[in-house]
Amino acid sequence: MALDINRIKALCFDVDGTLRDTDDAYAAKLSKMISPISWFSSNINVSQISRKIIMKVEGPANFAYSIPDRLGLDDELADISNWLHKVGILKTKRNHNYLIIPGVEETLKTLHLKFPMTVISARGKRGTEGFINTYNFSDFFIAMVSAQTAHRTKPHPAPVIWAANKMGVPPENCLMIGDTTVDIVAGKRAGAQTVGVLSGFGEKEELLEKGADLIINSVADLPSILKSN
Ligand SMILES: [Mg+2]
Repeated sequence: MALDINRIKALCFDVDGTLRDTDDAYAAKLSKMISPISWFSSNINVSQISRKIIMKVEGPANFAYSIPDRLGLDDELADISNWLHKVGILKTKRNHNYLIIPGVEETLKTLHLKFPMTVISARGKRGTEGFINTYNFSDFFIAMVSAQTAHRTKPHPAPVIWAANKMGVPPENCLMIGDTTVDIVAGKRAGAQTVGVLSGFGEKEELLEKGADLIINSVADLPSILKSN
């Protein structure tokens, strides 16, 4: 089903994997890439190895610059980090423990001039507001919907209906943007249109299967798509 641009009067953004990048998303991407190593032995836990690699190359306490240096491993870790950036697994900047999807700031700046906007997260209030406030995005949003806001959370339509109400727009005129099937299902059930982004956990096929009206690589693609609106 194609996106009806003229119907869109307000925007609802998921947070994790849509605006905010996470180490979990990196680890999932890396797991997929290195999964063939599990053919060699069933004892190899690919997701655990991926998480360790991500933590070591981007992780807390500057591991990559301290212990490896003493052990003479810094060159190897730098190589891994460079490779992860090169193949597109690592590409975001870190700010106070919150990672951001590239292009989000410019995108929100552009879109908030034309649309009322909300964020709808299935996470807790503190994590959601922490990310938004760290990047000074709160002025862009009419409301922040967290797991505690509506009586049910995604994939239930309640958060989308709640957000639409706050923005003074019927749910049918909202566009729900998210990286996983729960975003698409919640949006659809509320009567909104939906866009799936591939910057997080979701796969194109599953997002389409749940009825996404459009699939884009990331929210950075939105301003040009909504330009004619
Ligand atoms: Mg998400």
